[in-house]
Amino acid sequence: MTQTEHKPEVNETPLVPIEKIVSLCKRRGFVFPNSEIYGGVAGIYDFGPLGVEMRNNIRRYWWWSMVQTHDNVVGIEGANITHPRVWEASGHVENFVDILVDCKKCKRRFRIDHLPPENVEQNKCPVCGGELTEPRKFNLLMETYLGVVEGDRMKTYLRGEACQNIYLDYDNVQKSSRMQIPFGICQIGKAYRNEVTPGNFLFRQREFEQWDLQFFVHPSEMQKWFDYWKEYRFNWYQSIINHKDRLHFREHGSDELAHYARQAFDIEYRTVLGWQEWEGIHWRQDWDLSRHSQYSGQDLSYTDPLTKERYIPWIVETSGGVDRTFLNLLLDAYEEQPDPMGKDNDRTVLHLHPWLAPVKVAVLPLQKNKEEIVSTAKSIHKNLQRFMVSQYDDIQNIGRRYRRQDEIGTPYCVTIDFQTLEDQTVTVRERDSMSQIRLPIAELQMYLLERVTWK
Ligand code: ATP
Repeated sequence: MTQTEHKPEVNETPLVPIEKIVSLCKRRGFVFPNSEIYGGVAGIYDFGPLGVEMRNNIRRYWWWSMVQTHDNVVGIEGANITHPRVWEASGHVENFVDILVDCKKCKRRFRIDHLPPENVEQNKCPVCGGELTEPRKFNLLMETYLGVVEGDRMKTYLRGEACQNIYLDYDNVQKSSRMQIPFGICQIGKAYRNEVTPGNFLFRQREFEQWDLQFFVHPSEMQKWFDYWKEYRFNWYQSIINHKDRLHFREHGSDELAHYARQAFDIEYRTVLGWQEWEGIHWRQDWDLSRHSQYSGQDLSYTDPLTKERYIPWIVETSGGVDRTFLNLLLDAYEEQPDPMGKDNDRTVLHLHPWLAPVKVAVLPLQKNKEEIVSTAKSIHKNLQRFMVSQYDDIQNIGRRYRRQDEIGTPYCVTIDFQTLEDQTVTVRERDSMSQIRLPIAELQMYLLERVTWK
């Protein structure tokens, strides 16, 4: 599939403004601006109590579906700092640049590749019409120094992309794990870029997290595996979003392709920012291992155990962002439902996939001054906590407690009431439909596990 025009569906819910998500994230403890008490740092964020749970779920689900369910894929976790030569071999020292222009009148700064072509041609600011400066190059790598003695200190870089560690560890992994081609190596890890125009909340940050698969193949099988991973990654994103029509492939034009690439696709998602890259599927050929062989002097070729053919493996790469996934999932899940009866009961709900929601279940005693109800509720909560994130909440009336859980995307609420004491059953309320069923306590754990655990 190539890029297609978006055809709006009937009854499509409106795109959510980023500010709504920023506000919810701060109010409910998903994401906070980093160093906020000092005025903050542009493009750097911290994740709060709910944010870290959701982030861990996203990471674990990716890891499970990419590594643990593929016999031919293994994982690594590389360091954030590497030998500086790595970034010369990768081309980042020379080419990892954004070309920028400033408006002489309103002083706004733009990446030239983000400007409409007519503004570039006419050298004109898209906001105020002012004249633009000459284009200037900015390298995005973040520098750091190793060693304590001035003069002996070695300049290196925080990694500008996480995947380089995979190429560096390729030979060790292949030999120590006895992997045979075709096989893949996955990693989730931080990357650092001195983005000159950070913004749109988590969309473009200076410190962020990437997930990569580098899949090593014989050149004759490149197309087959490229197609396999391209479809697999698209279906993966489809499986966790509500608005399936907001996801598509965009094929790179010939002017965008790297010289070694026969094809490249972005998986894009549509938000108020328009269609934007969520993950890239890249045809890297033998570029990375050849460059590292050349720069390090180590032979990174592979010998086929059967045919004895010796070659540098070709690579299919899938590279996406944990933070962009986090943001897109919130934008995809957020809905404000006006109360048909009046203003007081408006509901904000996050339709997050139950697998990824930060809290899986809330346990709510109907009354907090009835000893038997409280002790039964606490014991149910303690038991559920052994298997999933459960929250115990006895503050305010039951309607408010449901609303609080809806707003953070908790898929199930369990209410303990007088009937529970008589027949050992509880009410289970589902977030999206708000429907309720009565279930024996003995069946509750299995009922929830079936629904909140990925499979
Ligand atoms: P862009 O063109 O948007 O700058 P890119 O093509 O440089 O992105 P890659 O280097 O291919 O992006 O990175 C892979 C993934 O990492 C992207 O698809 C995105 O999900 C994520 N990513 C890249 N840059 C950032 C950033 N500054 N902040 C958050 N996530 C990012």
